[in-house]
Amino acid sequence: MNNYILKTLAYNKQVRIFFMENTDMIKEICNNKNISNTLKTALGKTVSIGTLISATLKGNQRVSIKVNASNSQHKIFADVDSMGNIRGYISDALLNEPLDTINNLSVEELIGDKGYIQVMKDIGMHSVFTGVTDMPYRNIVDDFSYYFKQSEQTDTFFSVNMVYNEDNEIILSRGIMAQLLPGAPISLIDTIKEITFENQLILSNFNDRKNFKEIPHLLFRDIEIVEQYPVQFLCGCSKEFFYPMLYSLNREELVDAYKSEKSIEIVCNVCGKKYSFSPQEIKNLVQ
Ligand SMILES: [Zn+2]
Repeated sequence: MNNYILKTLAYNKQVRIFFMENTDMIKEICNNKNISNTLKTALGKTVSIGTLISATLKGNQRVSIKVNASNSQHKIFADVDSMGNIRGYISDALLNEPLDTINNLSVEELIGDKGYIQVMKDIGMHSVFTGVTDMPYRNIVDDFSYYFKQSEQTDTFFSVNMVYNEDNEIILSRGIMAQLLPGAPISLIDTIKEITFENQLILSNFNDRKNFKEIPHLLFRDIEIVEQYPVQFLCGCSKEFFYPMLYSLNREELVDAYKSEKSIEIVCNVCGKKYSFSPQEIKNLVQ
């Protein structure tokens, strides 16, 4: 079990704290793409925040988060459900920007001063809750703490640790989400924040890697692990999903493909899976 969440209660059950290790998932989503380091960091943070938010969901609830940069074509997405299925991706326009252009920007510069967060929560029974807030911190992680305070009136703290090797590949990814429960003193969220900052070394030391299950006890007193479960990258794409994309090709191109007995291959942008459409399938589609 390489990606998982530990749900805990701490400080006399006044706060719930979720601990997440999602290194393998982040490697799968971020490392195998030819994307700039800035995008890798921004995507990794967004996916990690989404993974932590998935731990707040129940039943069939789903959440989609969208990080919108000041450039309206530049967006980063994460979709999660209560079963811990996570997918994350980048808008085509941002993905196709020249590597150097984006690499010269920090995450803060990429987000810019007009960035905003959108959270769509599908709470079942065809009911969707949408929240939008601006991004005063421009670093994604603190902006989501701000989102919860503004939009859901919940004192929440997020922390994401990502460690890179010398080839700029992510080799460790961990995160924490703390949320005060009703009646808790507001100062408790600052206590948790301080303790997390003081213990960055425990969270991000790759060489002397602590067993993740020990970490809650190393950081906080009076903490009890309530639940532990795996989370996983799941794109959820299928061949049917890509038929509309085939339709969007021009008719001549499709006719040409089946007449010359050529298959058409479409690659999923999110997971990299390849789908091949045979000449017969293309013919059926055109006729
Ligand atoms: Zn896919």
